[in-house]
Amino acid sequence: MLDLIFMGPPGAGKGTQASRICAERGIAHISTGDMLRAQVADGTELGLQAKEIMNRGDLVPDAIIIGMIRDRLSHPDTEAGFVLDGFPRTLAQAQALDEMLGSIDRTIDCVPVFEVDLEVLVDRLSGRRVCHEAQHVYHVRFNPPATEGVCDIDGSELYQRDDDSEDVVRARYQKQWVEAAGPVLDYYDGRGLVVRIDASLSREQVDAEIDQVIEGLGEAAA
Ligand code: ADP
Ligand code: AMP
Repeated sequence: MLDLIFMGPPGAGKGTQASRICAERGIAHISTGDMLRAQVADGTELGLQAKEIMNRGDLVPDAIIIGMIRDRLSHPDTEAGFVLDGFPRTLAQAQALDEMLGSIDRTIDCVPVFEVDLEVLVDRLSGRRVCHEAQHVYHVRFNPPATEGVCDIDGSELYQRDDDSEDVVRARYQKQWVEAAGPVLDYYDGRGLVVRIDASLSREQVDAEIDQVIEGLGEAAA
């Protein structure tokens, strides 16, 4: 079993790495951002409420997010392990997660923290494109699809997220990373779970860093 939390500012590459790791290892990729965008696309009441909050760069209320995760962790595809991508983002979410995991006798193995400077993030997010069908992630320069505007995996159209405009990226960085993430980082750091990753490197270099961290966990457990 491999249970990980990927932390880092928006655009640091958490989703890109989580997709790869989960596909390679057969574990569940749990992205609260993807789950919220699916609600927005379906036009649910929750989606309508969340859309406005997300487009301002604010955090969606803890009760909504915790409820979503509680439900998601009860699905059988999480049995072999999971990567939590973008959750927890507040101390209340981290504490609720501990309670949920405690009740099923599981603990987090490691919290890789993706470190990248703001100007690199603005560049990454202004070029990010995602697909309508399954939110597969591309970049116009760093990871372009074979055919412009079309997802390589499912053929659906690519679009730019509303919250990837430069002003919202800066707001998300400030409110969600600089102001809100500190207590969550301290919470996991205090337990010795945090491993810092230089996520400003190339895709291949970050792949190698993350693989090394995960392989190190296996060796430590052996
Ligand atoms: P997050 O999930 O942390 O918000 P993403 O995984 O969506 O970040 O990555 C943000 C953007 O940066 C995407 O367009 C992605 O293709 C691109 N990207 C991811 N990792 C790298 C990297 N190491 N170097 C350059 N671009 C990257
Ligand atoms: P992301 O796809 O991770 O960049 O998340 C997109 C947006 O969804 C964020 O800017 C928040 O508004 C919201 N969101 C995602 N995850 C959380 C969370 N754990 N807590 C609160 N809001 C969240």
